[in-house]
Amino acid sequence: MTEPGAGVGTVRLRDGVEIELSDGRTVVADADRPRGDVNVLSHAHGDHLYDDPPERVVCSALTAALAEARREEAGPLTRESVPEIDLYEAGHVAGSRAVLITDPGTDRRYCYTGDISTRDRAYLSGFSPPDADVLIIEATYGRPEYVFPDQADLEAEITEWLAETIDRPVLLFGYSLGRAQKLQLLAQRAGRSRVLVSKAISRINGVIEEYRDVSFDAERSGPDTELEAGDALVLPTGTNNLAFVDAILEETGALKAGFSGWAMNSAFKYRGDYDATFTLSDHCDFAELVEVVETVDPEIVYTQHGFADELATHLTGLGYETRTLKRNQTALGDF
Ligand SMILES: [Zn+2]
Repeated sequence: MTEPGAGVGTVRLRDGVEIELSDGRTVVADADRPRGDVNVLSHAHGDHLYDDPPERVVCSALTAALAEARREEAGPLTRESVPEIDLYEAGHVAGSRAVLITDPGTDRRYCYTGDISTRDRAYLSGFSPPDADVLIIEATYGRPEYVFPDQADLEAEITEWLAETIDRPVLLFGYSLGRAQKLQLLAQRAGRSRVLVSKAISRINGVIEEYRDVSFDAERSGPDTELEAGDALVLPTGTNNLAFVDAILEETGALKAGFSGWAMNSAFKYRGDYDATFTLSDHCDFAELVEVVETVDPEIVYTQHGFADELATHLTGLGYETRTLKRNQTALGDF
């Protein structure tokens, strides 16, 4: 069965984002079971990472190493490079890349961003968008109210809080790949006496330290670790509601802080039962997303993830041809 409008130049969201080239090959990005003629992995976050590995994949060496660490049971990954695909630093997390795919038959250029941040942070350079005819952009914070503070101000606010509370231990919650590493560096900068991390974060630290010129100087915490005043313990966000966290709070009088773009909503603080929250994010805010689109200035924009409809509506208002990518729905190429 042929879907209406399917064919050359079609961008679809199926299992991952699928782009069909003029020679009939498909490029598939960030699928659970990648089965494209060419498969791309933008970064090693769970919602982009395969469950069942592809035979070969286009990604950075660091993303491959992180993916192998996070999907140990799947075995080693085989990376390939293909002439039609160029990788660009996505500025999201260590190893993350956006891709520019050039159709060899038509010279049409497709930019798939994966997750992006245009801010320089710690050892990450912000995403500098390439020119493209078709842009497929993430829309996590694609609503006008999500505009984050200046990065330097934000980091100063965080280190001030970490210094002011030095007479107590603190628990800092962030994703194990991304926020967790930045929190360790900020805790060091704030003069915290020890920076401790969970097993999962320690493993990711090790991979990043191997590939990048950075050292997190963190100790691995365990059941016998006794938290003291001055300590900062960095934990994966998902552990916030676990019983061991409550036990630590009760025993040590530690404070809890949460870090996310969603901290702009007061519900974030309340739901996580945090003492403090900060809008530290590894994504573009709304204004930065719009700026990326304006810089690329494509003929058509596809939005996906988060506030995809809202961002699409805004971009349509700015005069862009826009589509929201939704699973199993063919988005027409129109050219
Ligand atoms: Zn991500």
